[in-house]
Amino acid sequence: MIHFEHVSKRYSEGHDALKDICFTLQTGELAFLTGHSGAGKSTLLKLIMLMEQPTAGHIQVCDQQLTHLGRHEIPFLRRSIGVVFQNHQLLFDRTVFENVALPLQICGYSPQDAARRVRAALDKVGLLDREKMNPLALSSGEQQRVGIARAIVHKPKVLLADEPTGNLDPLLSEEIMRLFEQFNRVGTTVLIASHDLSLIKRMGRRVMTLRSGRLIADG
Ligand code: ADP
Ligand code: ADP
Repeated sequence: MIHFEHVSKRYSEGHDALKDICFTLQTGELAFLTGHSGAGKSTLLKLIMLMEQPTAGHIQVCDQQLTHLGRHEIPFLRRSIGVVFQNHQLLFDRTVFENVALPLQICGYSPQDAARRVRAALDKVGLLDREKMNPLALSSGEQQRVGIARAIVHKPKVLLADEPTGNLDPLLSEEIMRLFEQFNRVGTTVLIASHDLSLIKRMGRRVMTLRSGRLIADG
């Protein structure tokens, strides 16, 4: 599902953020990406979601070679990827329902089909009764679950998360991880960047460790 072949990334201002990264994430896998702050976790995720371009190497996502994508193919590939951010990036001038509906509007779903999918996604994260509320009125754990509902509402093949539990206490973090497991169980490929080692350990999954831009452990 995700294949990195000797991938390096150097930002124009600086040193190498990623150096010679090779790995394959199979369809249906759930894996963690860990490492200290500045190790390159966010950069690796940004390469997958086409927010950054590699300086060297090849990346394949959903059987597509990213370097060979035409300008008009990029939005299509982005639709097969769902992204969860640490600060969940919700819009506070809209309801929970409207926030989750955003990716569907971009894809051009009919209002009825969109509403059905939004409610299904909110149901999955246990927030069906909050759809009319403003996200500001929710707890931080609930806000993060809205962010997850928005990331999965268009049924992406790949779910990426960048420090999804960074602002949450251990109990809420565990809850969020169970949600990722739940989506993985029904076939979504999941890659989670996190520096919460104790949480990662409890999950018992594949862990890829970055240090100064190099993949120093994978297993
Ligand atoms: P992590 O997510 O593990 O904290 P990042 O991928 O954010 O690591 O950063 C890896 C390295 O790349 C760091 O040295 C960081 O300062 C640098 N970096 C990240 N984004 C940029 C950018 N837009 N421009 C220049 N350097 C960047
Ligand atoms: P239908 O099969 O009736 O067309 P959908 O395809 O919309 O229904 O969705 C079937 C179920 O899968 C829904 O409950 C939906 O919320 C759920 N679902 C949505 N996204 C994901 C996902 N990323 N992973 C697993 N299940 C999902």
